[in-house]
Amino acid sequence: MTQKLFRIAVDGPSGAGKSTIAKAVAKRLGIDYIDTGAMYRAIGLKMLRLGIPMEEGPALTEMLAETEIDFAGGNVFLDGEMVNDRIRTPEVSRAASDCSALGSVRGKLVELQRKMGNTKSVIMDGRDIGTNVLTDAEYKFFLTASAEERAQRRHREMVEKGQKSDFNEVLEQILQRDYNDSNRALNPLRKADDAEEIDSTHMSIQDVVDYICGKVCN
Ligand code: C5P
Repeated sequence: MTQKLFRIAVDGPSGAGKSTIAKAVAKRLGIDYIDTGAMYRAIGLKMLRLGIPMEEGPALTEMLAETEIDFAGGNVFLDGEMVNDRIRTPEVSRAASDCSALGSVRGKLVELQRKMGNTKSVIMDGRDIGTNVLTDAEYKFFLTASAEERAQRRHREMVEKGQKSDFNEVLEQILQRDYNDSNRALNPLRKADDAEEIDSTHMSIQDVVDYICGKVCN
């Protein structure tokens, strides 16, 4: 018997725990995880490397036409190069946020994401999955947490990795990204009308994973 395909969309602001949670849900349900933020980060990285300005133009169009982004074994590949760590710097975070406001970048990545979501069961996280990429996803969640809690989590993570981190700076960056993501003209961050909101401020990762898996398996 073939199992019916299903898609789980998880949207929400930066630092709400979407990727950690989506990865754990994917593992438990035996489906693929697609991190759409990593795709915007990969494009941001390539634009920085090539010195392409963060605006529409022939250099960007040409670059997008020759860019390949793939996921394999939980890794992100940009034109065949594994870029897992290179896309996690503050500089690339900013570039990802900037390039995600450009129509040509969104056009290319949304098309790729829809293709990925139409051939297999997936959990996909991002900002516009429930409202734009997979509007007919079987399950939609909007994951939030207070800005202070999100900044606290990111700050702790950096400190644990031995990286320098200043809480107020992290909070400032989170607020700035929230503002950019919610106020851009194209596919801004928004809860889909049919998405269920989960406020994880006082929940552990495990609580949220259990909650989502419980919904999907029932
Ligand atoms: O989720 P993550 O922080 O890795 O995403 C990086 C950036 O990519 C975000 O700041 C956001 O601007 C952008 N993004 C987006 N649409 C998505 C996923 C991410 O605009 N579906």
